[in-house]
Amino acid sequence: MKKQIKKLIKSDSLKIGISLSLFVLGFILNIFSVGIITPILFVLALVVSGIEVFVDAVKGILRLDPLDEKFLMSIASVGAMLLGDFSEGAAVMIFYLIGETAEHKAVRKSRASIKALMDICPDEACVLVEGKEVVVDAEDVEVGATVIIRPGERAPVDAVVISGRADVDTSSMTGEPLPISVSEGDRLLSGYVVKDGLIYARAERASDESAAARVLELVEFASDNKSREESFITKFSRYYTPIVVLLALLVAILPPIFKIFTLENSIYTALTFLVISCPCALVISVPMAFFGGIGGAASRGILFKGGNVFSKIAKAETIAFDKTGTITSGRFVIEEVLAVDISKEELLSIAASLESVSNHPIAECIKKSSDEILKTENEKEISGLGICADIDGKVCAVGNLLMMREYGVEVPEGYIRNSAVYVLCDRVFLGSISISDEIKPEAKGAIADLYKLGVKRTAILSGDREENVRRVADEVGIKEAHFGMKPDEKYTKLEELIFSSSGTVYVGDGINDAPSLARADVGVAMGNMGQDSAIEASDVVIMTDNLDKLAEAIKIARKTVKIARENIVFAIGVKALILILGIFGFANMWLAVFADVGVAVIAVLNSMRALKYK
Ligand code: ADP
Ligand code: MG
Repeated sequence: MKKQIKKLIKSDSLKIGISLSLFVLGFILNIFSVGIITPILFVLALVVSGIEVFVDAVKGILRLDPLDEKFLMSIASVGAMLLGDFSEGAAVMIFYLIGETAEHKAVRKSRASIKALMDICPDEACVLVEGKEVVVDAEDVEVGATVIIRPGERAPVDAVVISGRADVDTSSMTGEPLPISVSEGDRLLSGYVVKDGLIYARAERASDESAAARVLELVEFASDNKSREESFITKFSRYYTPIVVLLALLVAILPPIFKIFTLENSIYTALTFLVISCPCALVISVPMAFFGGIGGAASRGILFKGGNVFSKIAKAETIAFDKTGTITSGRFVIEEVLAVDISKEELLSIAASLESVSNHPIAECIKKSSDEILKTENEKEISGLGICADIDGKVCAVGNLLMMREYGVEVPEGYIRNSAVYVLCDRVFLGSISISDEIKPEAKGAIADLYKLGVKRTAILSGDREENVRRVADEVGIKEAHFGMKPDEKYTKLEELIFSSSGTVYVGDGINDAPSLARADVGVAMGNMGQDSAIEASDVVIMTDNLDKLAEAIKIARKTVKIARENIVFAIGVKALILILGIFGFANMWLAVFADVGVAVIAVLNSMRALKYK
């Protein structure tokens, strides 16, 4: 019973309903001037609509932190009543309540629509247990289990297809409208929808570590990282409200002293002034713009890790790219195998065994080239060079020319290829494997778009050889090519770029380059939901490896920042105008109330635009 009463007191629409009825009744009776009854109706309306606000204002005073908008509204409404302006006093509170309720509805709505966009984690999964299909909670799917995904269902966890082929809709995760087709060996991320065909897949991650859960977590967590604009508003209201109260006091006291207005007149002006200066529109609509931006971007496969990232990437001037897996597809194929003294199969077997510890795109390709995986010990991955390990007690290595040089091995002239990795064992050169990797088809257009957006400087930072890096840079229109760099050299070069420019973005795939992702003003990790280090180190995660998303991210960021600023300027502008009118006695409390609610509603509607991006 007590709970129900509490709920009733908390129900805003009920309070609005009752207080508004009392108010209207009071107004009608006022026309027939039914003496003492009308003020009582207005006081009742004030009590019903304002009870929570008063309680909060008093709590604020007790906390010695009284100067918030609730305090302003309480003084204004009670003050008006004390002056005998009963209807105005009630109106202030009722409309304040209506405005607040509308704002909360809007926030709830945008939260709900983000949630709907993000309704990507299935609750249940169908797994194969001893040859039988069993439906379990998605959380209970163990790594290694075989999951079955039927047409129309979402993958419950990140998995690799074991059998079956199907077209898969990735749009809720990646924002890509076109389905991709998957078959044996391809990866499925949780949240992908299988459109046709039956898929058997092996679970690679538990559901809470799978892509869909991470996306949700990033989006939820993102609203905690406040943007500059949001911090500005918080700071602003801390100084703003006390200043407003002080000004209101002056407005109330000074004119009567100089006998310009009567005391009663100037108190009324001061109260109007308080109502006008309520900062609700700002306090709510600015964070909402960023909230919308984060949600809108997420539905297009771009995850911003906080409101603070928007204004930084919006100002991007210099963009540095990793090459392999970022500008190029990272899907290598073997073109030529040259072995010395051993067979090609043996060479590939040694290389594949060494690469088995690595998830570098080169390793992924070489691993597939042999079924004969030898036992290795003391495996070590040297970023930007390659892999070394012991096989049969012999020190073996695979990697680029720098790697060979580490072991004092010179590669004979005839074995050097433009893009190749080399293999050695016990300081003896065993052969080379040339591989090729294509430039992503959209790369050129995507880079051109970046220039159109005002990016001035572009660079590739790569561990690859000069010819390759230059060729790729020229082909896609990137101005600077830095080659032969180890990860620490990439980092140093990136710092140089950061110091010479005001907004430096680093775009990488997280393999070998997590430090650079973290160091840049904005680190953008591409197409690698599987790579923990990339997600942690970056500020923006792009779910696909499509480079066009980069320009899109910048555009979304600019739009969001613009909306937030519009709200700030609009709200402060309108308030300032009415304040001035108010000080000179041209604005009454009615105008103040409507301006306050109106500005808040318009600003909130404006913020909702950030959620949609064409
Ligand atoms: P990029 O900067 O182009 O992304 P990386 O820094 O990842 O390149 O690697 C630079 C070079 O180091 C590669 O071109 C390759 O020659 C060599 N390399 C790195 N990792 C491996 C590996 N696992 N196996 C063989 N070679 C590797
Ligand atoms: Mg790389």
